[in-house]
Amino acid sequence: MNCPRCKVSMQLETIKEKNYQLEIDRCPQCDGIWLDFEEMKKLESIVEPVAWEVRQIPPQVDQLIGLYCPRCPDSPLLIKADHPRDRHVIIDYCKKCQGTWLDPGELTAIQQEHFLISLYHFIRDLGH
Ligand SMILES: [Zn+2]
Ligand SMILES: [Zn+2]
Repeated sequence: MNCPRCKVSMQLETIKEKNYQLEIDRCPQCDGIWLDFEEMKKLESIVEPVAWEVRQIPPQVDQLIGLYCPRCPDSPLLIKADHPRDRHVIIDYCKKCQGTWLDPGELTAIQQEHFLISLYHFIRDLGH
């Protein structure tokens, strides 16, 4: 699978947290990561469901370059949304496979704030 930003081949990597372990694809060039929905789904069994306010933001021409899903064969355009808890984190997600693209700083935010768990609920709610 290739990075939606750089088009270079991504590498499989494992993130280990106290209560869970996730397989992600990481781009060796821009350090962004791709999360399959199945990976986020694993979190459901270990956290309480949380209700999230969902607010989609329109693409901003300068900062936000459109990215295409690296997973789906027909490469649909990823949808951009900011996280209800942190407006600085822009999430690109695929409406079709519900995978999620995260730029480098976003992964740090995730690990620091258990952001990943909230992200899972966020994407799930968007998709259904
Ligand atoms: Zn990249
Ligand atoms: Zn997709």
